Amino acid sequence: WRSRKFPWTAKLEDNNKKVFGNHSFRPNQREIINATMSGHDVFVLMPTGGGKSLTYQLPALICPGVTLVISPLVSLIQDQIMHLLQANIPAAYLSASMEWSEQQDIHRELNSDYCRYKLLYVTPEKVAKSDALLRQLENLHSRELLARIVIDEAHCVSQWGHDFRPDYQGLGILKQKFPCIPVLALTATATASVKEDVVRALGLANCIIFRQSFNRPNLWYSVIPKTKKCLEDIDKFIKENHFDECGIIYCLSRMDCEKVSEKLQECGHKAAFYHGNMDGAQRAFVQKQWSKDEVNVICATVAFGMGINKPDVRFVIHHSLPKSIEGYHQECGRAGRDGQRSSCVLYYSYGDYIRVKHMISQGVAEQSPLTYGYNRANTANTSRVLETNTDNLLRMVSYCENDVDCRRLLQLAHFGERFDSNSCGKTCDNCSKRKTCVEKDVTETAKQLVELVKSTGQKFSSAHTLEVFRGSQGQNVKKHGHEKLSLHGAGKHLGKGEASRILRHLVTEDYLVEDVKKSDIYGSVSSVLKVNMQKAYNLYNGQDSIRLRFPSLM
Ligand code: ADP
Ligand code: ZN
Repeated sequence: WRSRKFPWTAKLEDNNKKVFGNHSFRPNQREIINATMSGHDVFVLMPTGGGKSLTYQLPALICPGVTLVISPLVSLIQDQIMHLLQANIPAAYLSASMEWSEQQDIHRELNSDYCRYKLLYVTPEKVAKSDALLRQLENLHSRELLARIVIDEAHCVSQWGHDFRPDYQGLGILKQKFPCIPVLALTATATASVKEDVVRALGLANCIIFRQSFNRPNLWYSVIPKTKKCLEDIDKFIKENHFDECGIIYCLSRMDCEKVSEKLQECGHKAAFYHGNMDGAQRAFVQKQWSKDEVNVICATVAFGMGINKPDVRFVIHHSLPKSIEGYHQECGRAGRDGQRSSCVLYYSYGDYIRVKHMISQGVAEQSPLTYGYNRANTANTSRVLETNTDNLLRMVSYCENDVDCRRLLQLAHFGERFDSNSCGKTCDNCSKRKTCVEKDVTETAKQLVELVKSTGQKFSSAHTLEVFRGSQGQNVKKHGHEKLSLHGAGKHLGKGEASRILRHLVTEDYLVEDVKKSDIYGSVSSVLKVNMQKAYNLYNGQDSIRLRFPSLM
């Protein structure tokens, strides 16, 4: 799908540059576009930020007719439409919350002989519940104007995913009604079981699957305890490993950015800072210096990243704890786009955890670039968002405190991807300094954890499960009466991080299923643990036992 010439190849290149302003295609984009434009059904699994939108927006632009896009959230749809209109691509959306008259206007345009729209976005309940939409699609189809059907966040079809939306299940009707129209299903999160579910429910019998690994083999990961002389450590690290090369240092606060930058300048680095408190001109200036290599170390908040496509970023340093593994993965992902070896170093202290936690609860944490545009949306949801964010942070902490397991394995498990740590090739700190370890049988603890997930109704996150297991008397535990469960505190005797590792192992090995996805507003992730009964049965009947390695000095 990559190198073959297609009738549209030249047009594709041209529009990608001129309309979307991209110099080239990201991995799999060209292949996906060629497959869908050849008329195949296509299933795409691509990390967040990988560039899924282009894979249907570009075909929509160059194919005759209208592309139907089903997307779960009006706020995401509005954002997409704004970008499309900015690029002069006519697009509209229909949602149940819209005024009747507004909907009529859109239908009228769709019915006209010279319908301008290239894309029509709808929420799934429109397909499930509105005959008007189906009639409209039939109408477009009979006029040969229904170009393609796109199902965004396709994992919502699956009951395995925690983000199951009943209306998505009704989307199978589209393939039944329009068997010849190519369907493109997109998601950033799918375990094997979710994928099968989606393919079945949508009726994509012979679809072509593009699955992209989240692994970045050229990035070397390490976590280093953060001490008072962190800045000296950073200076030394850069001088010893990346002297005069490009890098980003992510800092928590605006003040940190300035402080770190100043210190590095004193040490002779060409450093600058970048954060949300600077005005547009200042930021543009720093970006320009950076792209011209007049500055090669940027000390920035996570606001720095969007639209930064420097291929030769050789290191990404986290001066303090990132807020989620997803965010961390993405920030590290800005290093080594050219495929050359690059370093990702995280300085971790428990004190930073407290600091970040405080910031999250105050709602002052600077938004990740993913979430621009949605910041003001939906304050009513704050308590749920707070819970999700705290949960994400705790996962990040357990990642940092884990000094045994392969960093890649840990990160990839978060995206539902299995990774054999033997293929890490000592490119992470834990793999390269393999300690003398002892193997322990933790089957009993594992069974208890599975039992606990079951007894709380399979509705809670791993962080919550661990709190209960370790005997927390916290507010969240009591709110659900979980301090009364017989397994409350059953894991009290375990070392710090030990229970967490066992739980993570259960997820990696599919005893527990956890679907992590971008939550609606903040681009953060949320998840619920469920029991995979088939696998768990093997634990109960003694067929499976679980052994994990622990550092012998622990
Ligand atoms: P996803 O939906 O997979 O999370 P998006 O479609 O929102 O990702 O794309 C993420 C970012 O990458 C956007 O800012 C987009 O403009 C940019 N992008 C996508 N494709 C390319 C490309 N080929 N070259 C440069 N930037 C791209
Ligand atoms: Zn490793």
